[in-house]
Amino acid sequence: MQINLTGNIFFDAGYYLFYHILNKPFEDKEFSPEEIQKVIDWMIQETDRWLSYLDSNTKQFKSRFIPYLANHDPLSHAQKAKLDKSEKINTFKEILLKLLTHCEVSSNNTCSICGQFETIKIREIDKESYGLTRVELPLSNFGVNFYPGWVRGIQTCGICALKAYATIFATLNSSGKVILLNSFSSEIMKIWIETTRDESKLSKYNIFDEKGPITLPISNRLNAIYSLLKPLVDEGLKKKLPPYVYRNIEFIYYSNFVNGPEIQFFPISHHIFMFFFKLKQNALLLKWNQFVYQFYTSNKIQYDESKQKLIITEKKDNREAQEEEYQNNYNILIEKLLNGKPLFKEFVKDKKLRIEYKIIELYILEVLKVEKERLDLIKQIADLIAKNIRQGDMKLFDVEDATEYFKFQRFLVMAAKKHVQNMGNPLFTVDDYVNNLIGDYKTVHNIMLIRLYELLADFITKQTN
Ligand SMILES: [Zn+2]
Repeated sequence: MQINLTGNIFFDAGYYLFYHILNKPFEDKEFSPEEIQKVIDWMIQETDRWLSYLDSNTKQFKSRFIPYLANHDPLSHAQKAKLDKSEKINTFKEILLKLLTHCEVSSNNTCSICGQFETIKIREIDKESYGLTRVELPLSNFGVNFYPGWVRGIQTCGICALKAYATIFATLNSSGKVILLNSFSSEIMKIWIETTRDESKLSKYNIFDEKGPITLPISNRLNAIYSLLKPLVDEGLKKKLPPYVYRNIEFIYYSNFVNGPEIQFFPISHHIFMFFFKLKQNALLLKWNQFVYQFYTSNKIQYDESKQKLIITEKKDNREAQEEEYQNNYNILIEKLLNGKPLFKEFVKDKKLRIEYKIIELYILEVLKVEKERLDLIKQIADLIAKNIRQGDMKLFDVEDATEYFKFQRFLVMAAKKHVQNMGNPLFTVDDYVNNLIGDYKTVHNIMLIRLYELLADFITKQTN
């Protein structure tokens, strides 16, 4: 039978997992009954591994399915007293196999998710059929749930129900919440699925002996997402993926906790990925990472510039902070980058650049999308202003102080006048002024300042000493 994407990520992620399980090219949409059976067997085996672990404190079994299947009858924590593990597995098996028998092409009641197969009628009450609910389908609790078209449950076919189960195994966990990635690109989804199924990560991050979902040790959401961009960049470069596949990528955080299901979307700008690619191509990614590291500070943890390390102060002892001690600290650089707020303040400290100019330039071009010609013009003007400052004809303070629109305008006119008086040629043309300098003046002002700090580093040091 032919199976297709549905446009609903809670089903499609599972569909991508089918391909991972079967090691099948994504172009092949035809699935044999044997292949579907293999997917089911895989899920039963994985469920067995996930089903429960013994809490060492309470000696009670806890289900790793809780964020997905709260109160889900066959697997949930609440049912642990009623069924032992093998009974749970058998119940689960029964449900999956039952779903498989509902895969005929629709004649009357079309699946609300794929629009292709007949809806499952599992139970009828007062002669009215009900859709799948939490008994059969993840995230389909009564009351608040994430599915469109809820009519006394979700009207889905067996294949879509299987996809929804499979999605569970295509996620990561972070402090009890579930992380999923959404992308229109099958290549990006493939990288994501491989990240969630990475056995080496399973053993690295799994706190318990039994295998379950990969639990990221980072609970700060933005920091966790930032860490998850790495495999997308690395694998994309390895596979030479075209830039357009990095458009419209978003991370989804959710949980199915009964009374307060939560969902949050984190779209990632395509420009951020392009910036990382440029850094990598220019062998600057390590330096960038070192820069990001400097901002994982807190009251207890400070960055020591001479040691180039995050240092933790405990009583009278200072020591290097370990990753697990700082990775959940608020990082302003990550927050601003992921939320599309411009970084400029972070690049400068005490009139000195904290990171090499080349990286800042890549950031301006790739993330802020300032055109190359415009950037060159601003640099050119800043170079001339720097000369004037060295000769004592202008003051750095005049540039620093021009933080408001009218002040910046006044500064440019003043600088143009002084430059003509001293050098005998114009600093910029009227066209440049109108088209490239006064629009989005904050960016222009910041670029100018950063360029001046770079060019005048020796001059500023001499002046302050
Ligand atoms: Zn369907």
